[in-house]
Amino acid sequence: MLLTVKMKLHPTEDQHQKLLRTMERFNEACNYVSEFAWRNRIFNKVELQKNLYYDIRGTFNLSSQMVVRLVGKVSESYLADRSCYHEFKPHGAVIYDQRILTIKTLDTCSILTLEGREMVSMSYGRYQPLDLKRVKGQADLALIKNQFYLLIVVDVPEEPQIEPEEIIGVDLGIANIATTSTGETFSGQKCTESRKRYTRIKADLQSVGTWDAKKHLKKLSGKERRFKNDTNHCISKQIVAEAKGTHSGIALEDLTGIRDRTPGYKALAAAIGKWAFYEIAMYIRYKAHMAGIPVYLVDPHYTSQQCSHCGYTSRENRKTQSDFFCIKCGHTDNADINAAKNIASRADVNQPIALRPEPKRSGRWKGKPTALAVGS
Ligand SMILES: [Zn+2]
Repeated sequence: MLLTVKMKLHPTEDQHQKLLRTMERFNEACNYVSEFAWRNRIFNKVELQKNLYYDIRGTFNLSSQMVVRLVGKVSESYLADRSCYHEFKPHGAVIYDQRILTIKTLDTCSILTLEGREMVSMSYGRYQPLDLKRVKGQADLALIKNQFYLLIVVDVPEEPQIEPEEIIGVDLGIANIATTSTGETFSGQKCTESRKRYTRIKADLQSVGTWDAKKHLKKLSGKERRFKNDTNHCISKQIVAEAKGTHSGIALEDLTGIRDRTPGYKALAAAIGKWAFYEIAMYIRYKAHMAGIPVYLVDPHYTSQQCSHCGYTSRENRKTQSDFFCIKCGHTDNADINAAKNIASRADVNQPIALRPEPKRSGRWKGKPTALAVGS
């Protein structure tokens, strides 16, 4: 499976300026190529290179490999859309390959700038070991909030998918971030602060009356996001480890489209709760995929109101947030565990569908195979 790994660069001030100048020159040249391409209706990489190679080399004083890459960037951009002229922003990504970027260790890279190669130190999220032999050809140098990152594509080996003997249902929520049908509860103790913020955000959203999951996530500050990210990685890892240890598949609620199906504020509030943990669902899916654990998405309706023992569904069954009591058969359970059991049994009933991890997390990584930014 191909993943995009985000490495944070730690250039000195001098190196930062060098990278910045390189980036600006690269994109300036992109615009030069773009104008030519648009004017002459030539979008083919080879044709553009034939026409412009020496011109760009002379005008922009860029290395030969950078010229190849930037022509490729412009050509790819027009392949996606030929209906209008494409302008490249001064701080758009620079495309690197092995000839102009060398990653020998996980904490340093040798990267070409206008003024020659620079050894720049770097770091990446500690969530998974990274095998440098598996780094694929290209990497993007990106500037995000005045911070340079390398987005490198890594081929991570997948394990063959198991034939599950059991299904572990996972209920995602706010009070407990994740609860499994086997009775494990993951609360993420340090999440209290984040939860307070969610409540505030919810109130804000309520007053505005509109809601968008992406905007919601954007509202969280970097620090909170990193913390939540950390917690979600940690919890998803434990759930997948349990599934692997017990030869089980994993069942999750299918939350895609829940917004469309549940109008009204009350349902909206519930949906926000679910969406807040969209990220953990994504991590579970991709970690499971890597470990060869099948993941099943099930119908999310009434999982919290249905009795996991007799199947009777009623709002009355849910007396409090934490307790489940079936008014038909008398079954009692922790409410989240009851929901998780329902999720597990729905996966048993439904036709199993093995899932690939979320294919498109953000429009930015367009064109990359299976892109998922890992780490920070
Ligand atoms: Zn019952």
